[in-house]
Amino acid sequence: MKTSPASQQSGDTSAVNDYLDLDSLLSRDELDARELVRGFCDKRLRDVVPNWFEHGLPEQDARDLMLEFGKLGVLGMHLEGYGCPGLGAVSYGLACTELEAIDSGLRSMVSVQGSLAMSAIRKFGSEEQKQTWLPRMAAGEVLGCFGLTEPDSGSDPGSMRAVARRDRSDWVLNGTKMWITNGSIADIAVVWARTDDGVRGFLVPAGTPGLTAPHMRGKLSMRASITSELILDNVRLPASAQLPGARGLRGPLSCLGEARFGIVFGVLGAAREALRTAVDYAATRTQFGKPIGGFQLTQQKLVEMLLELQKATLLALHLGRLKESGRLRPEQLSVGKLNNVRAALEVCRTARTVLGANGIMQEYPVMRHMANLESVLTYEGTVEVHTLVIGQALTGQNAFR
Ligand code: FAD
Repeated sequence: MKTSPASQQSGDTSAVNDYLDLDSLLSRDELDARELVRGFCDKRLRDVVPNWFEHGLPEQDARDLMLEFGKLGVLGMHLEGYGCPGLGAVSYGLACTELEAIDSGLRSMVSVQGSLAMSAIRKFGSEEQKQTWLPRMAAGEVLGCFGLTEPDSGSDPGSMRAVARRDRSDWVLNGTKMWITNGSIADIAVVWARTDDGVRGFLVPAGTPGLTAPHMRGKLSMRASITSELILDNVRLPASAQLPGARGLRGPLSCLGEARFGIVFGVLGAAREALRTAVDYAATRTQFGKPIGGFQLTQQKLVEMLLELQKATLLALHLGRLKESGRLRPEQLSVGKLNNVRAALEVCRTARTVLGANGIMQEYPVMRHMANLESVLTYEGTVEVHTLVIGQALTGQNAFR
């Protein structure tokens, strides 16, 4: 028997969405911000994303979409000034949940623009850099990317090889960055490189001689998101291209913290979609003479998924409130990143089993979310890295080396 594809359903409120009435912890403004993004996602994105995942996201579609995201107000949503909406951390988190309920790749595009590229310029840029780039980035007219990872430098960014050397007042950059979200469509790349004075950040406009951004092909995850290399071959930049406020690795790492926060909320959306799909499927799929949702073993799976989703939601909200009050510490954020991505992935894997063979089909969003979450588990700090961060906070011992 064939059930109706859950991918066609809209994101209405239901027991799956909010079993514990956690919406009561949100303000009217936060609920309104969420509704706006949810409505856009359901109308504009829900039906087109499976095609983007299957065939890859065309660059022009990505550019068009970023303009629409700009109008929606989700680019640099939590940043203040320079044309940014300046909403609270929880509102931004809720927007991430709705975007990721459609696809982690879309939340990634928004995260990289707002939490990585824009936040680097907002935190560390000169007044002129902020004025030049941020308003157009908030509008989605200018796209940014964030180049930290390299072929031989992932979890350990301190081992990066990209180098920026002085040539009179200019800088000359050489190196290769890898896994760069939005790289080939970016108008401006935030690139981190080693200098005689430690790691520094640079703004590299697309089209600068020596910069190329080839697509990375063959991904089985995050297919509705563009991932590229950034190759810097004697890229010459004026002194004004350097981000004056960023010194050492603390610069890029503080931006990663912003992006991690979006993930803590974002993955709740993927988990919610998987759970909803499984609940719907279990209600209509009949085996041994009754709906599989009537078997205790299926109910146990659904209940475990619900518990994980609700606990993860509470954790995200708590971290959001800490962030809004300026008290969120990096090692606390690690708890959210580690727990919530792991929980969401487990929810998707379990949902996949509830759907049986149908669980592997594109017709249902479960396997796509599961495949995407494998990337989310790795980027912005792997499971192991966040475990070591929390372990260090607990014991005072650094076990990274
Ligand atoms: P490695 O660091 O090589 O790790 C491999 C394994 O070794 C992991 O399990 C890791 O946890 C483990 N390991 C490493 N060190 C230790 C240790 N001390 N103790 C125990 N275990 C350890 N980067 C950017 O700069 N910009 C982007 O926009 C961007 N977008 C991305 C998009 C996607 C889809 C993906 C998949 C990645 C993206 N990344 C981006 C890169 C991402 O941040 C890195 O993949 C991540 O930092 C991990 O690095 P790595 O893949 O090189 O793994």
